[in-house]
Amino acid sequence: MFPYCKYSEENITSYLESVTLRDAERSLAAQTSTFTDFLNFISPSAADLMPAMREKAAMIKRMHFGKTVRVYSPLYVSNFCINDCLYCGFRTSYCDHQRRRLTKAEVMQEAAIIKSYGINSLLLVSGEDPKGASVDYFVDIVSELKKMFSYISIEIYPMAQTDYRRLFEAGVHGLTLYQETYDRETYGKLHLKGPKSDYSARLDAMVAGGEAGFYNLGLGALLGLYNWRSEAVSLAAHGLWLRKKFWRSKIQFSFPRITPVEGGFDPLAPVNEAELEQLMLAFRLFFHEADLYISTRESHQFRALSARNCASHVSAASQVVPGGYYDEEQRKQDLGQFTVNDSCSVEQVSEDLAHEGLKVIFKDWDPCLGS
Ligand code: SF4
Repeated sequence: MFPYCKYSEENITSYLESVTLRDAERSLAAQTSTFTDFLNFISPSAADLMPAMREKAAMIKRMHFGKTVRVYSPLYVSNFCINDCLYCGFRTSYCDHQRRRLTKAEVMQEAAIIKSYGINSLLLVSGEDPKGASVDYFVDIVSELKKMFSYISIEIYPMAQTDYRRLFEAGVHGLTLYQETYDRETYGKLHLKGPKSDYSARLDAMVAGGEAGFYNLGLGALLGLYNWRSEAVSLAAHGLWLRKKFWRSKIQFSFPRITPVEGGFDPLAPVNEAELEQLMLAFRLFFHEADLYISTRESHQFRALSARNCASHVSAASQVVPGGYYDEEQRKQDLGQFTVNDSCSVEQVSEDLAHEGLKVIFKDWDPCLGS
């Protein structure tokens, strides 16, 4: 459980079991939602209320985001990693593949392809590779990339506040860092080696990011590692805690669900699609203005449905290996972080979102607004 949550896991579990359908209906009818309402939305009883939850979540989404949905793409720069997260294809103990770190020229080549899709919002992703993909490396590539993209965010590895600040000043405006699981015991079993084995240091890194001034702070739990309802409570509590501390920054939530990885990993607490949808709807019903992300780990149909009802951001045409956009051979042979379930082009994703009545936005941010 998120350490600053005032409820214990036992309290939460017994409360969730006690929620009735009537409680959940009352929460759904309320004008504004409390944390108790959030708990009611994720309760087993609320699973019978999905059509009504969809309808209200879609209305809230329309109130705050209009008919828009933002589309972005990730750019993987390195699959070297000094950590050994058992669920990840990049883990250090998985030695069957050659690793790759892109040079600046290769990064720009990848970026040009992403830009040619019409994408204006870029997420830089890397394994924990502080020697090769160092702070200097990121400062250097971001100084070029910011000439091409209006918004750059990072999902790399925890850094000190001063390093985050350097990246912010170079042009990175969003930080995403998943805690993976908020359950300390499970965390310890899954993160055996490397700096990531320190649960508290990972939590503290998001605070360093807030202090460094990032405009957007993205949180997430990797769904499938631990009981999803417990993770949902921790994720929400983490979001509320960060929002209070860094009220100038926007808190964002992602809902990555484990998909097959090279080397194999079976989810410890599998989450099905209906449960994922309930979780995302609960977040939209409680966090009205928050950005909710859905990645290509999920199917095309599920992503379109999520975008209509709750998700504000969807990725498209994602390649999850360094060099995957320009080098088809690399894409087939190299080590991916996870299995992509929606490999549709940006054009196809946009078309299908338009069928849902949504207007696709490629430009998520204007730097002049933040200066
Ligand atoms: S999850 Fe991140 S830190 Fe862990 S092995 Fe994969 S890339 Fe490295």
